[in-house]
Amino acid sequence: MSGSHRITKHTVLSSGLHDADIRPPALLNEFKRLSLRDAAHFLGDPSTWHPVPCTACGQDAPTPAFVKEGFPYTQCGHCDSLYVNPRPRTDAVTRYYAESEASRYRVAQFSEASAPQRRIHLARSRASWIAQVADTHLELEEPAYGDWKPYSAAILEEVSEQGRFGACIGIEPLVPLDGVAGATSPETLPRLDVISAFEKLEHQSAPEQFLHRLSEQLNPGGLLFLTTRTCSGFDLQVLWDKAPYIFVPEHMNLLSIEGLELLLQRCGLELIELSTPGQLDVELVLQALAADPSVVLPPFAKPLLTQRGPLAHQDFQAFLQKHRLSSHVRLVARRPKP
Ligand SMILES: [Zn+2]
Repeated sequence: MSGSHRITKHTVLSSGLHDADIRPPALLNEFKRLSLRDAAHFLGDPSTWHPVPCTACGQDAPTPAFVKEGFPYTQCGHCDSLYVNPRPRTDAVTRYYAESEASRYRVAQFSEASAPQRRIHLARSRASWIAQVADTHLELEEPAYGDWKPYSAAILEEVSEQGRFGACIGIEPLVPLDGVAGATSPETLPRLDVISAFEKLEHQSAPEQFLHRLSEQLNPGGLLFLTTRTCSGFDLQVLWDKAPYIFVPEHMNLLSIEGLELLLQRCGLELIELSTPGQLDVELVLQALAADPSVVLPPFAKPLLTQRGPLAHQDFQAFLQKHRLSSHVRLVARRPKP
């Protein structure tokens, strides 16, 4: 498992990002409240849910990890991924995302279009990442690009502005997209050369099926760009069940770095990049520490976070990025050519 760490690309970033720029606390709190309320309504009684093997590696070796707001998380004994298990039926989860007020709230409040900081830190930086990797790994003149279920047209506009792509399509967009193309069903969607799915993997009820679906939509040799949250990250390792921004059904899968590699292998995808360019682990732990008296830091983290200054925090965050120990992960995988 560790061998591929040496060959896949990884990246270190610093853009002055702060948590409040992309997740204003008041909006996040309301979104969490609605999510938990709607989960209780749409997903039914947890006693009726079904057990699943690890949603990353497929092995069935779960150990109870914690219960969060009534939702049981287990940890895989093989790859250490965290996942909700037992879990609700796929059709219930699909209905939740299609019909819940929480989903509508997310689209209205968290779209990149609604705040300039989100647009710069998310849509623009993602578009630049996609264009750079495509330049290196695709030899096509005008590859066709699609984003999976975009919340707004921002990512499509930003990718289009890079000037690298032909078509830029919103795949089953969650809102009507002004001025850019959208494909509302698999029948109307052409095969694509590049597909992105930002922060979608963590709330899939069946991640393997999800990646197969995306892979089948790619031309052979095409690239898949994913971002998600990993339980291998520092803030989640330290805060564990006390991480206030982890909730169901948004975070049904908090897969480990090793688990993500195994998941891509199981889906027949070749890993090109696996980075954790997160900039927020230290900030998120400090926020949780200030807000929740029951948070207890491990002996190593306590002096680092409470007695050293901003320079130590900055250096440590860079170390986490460099060694794939931040919880924000991004991946690029290729559908192999036959
Ligand atoms: Zn596993």
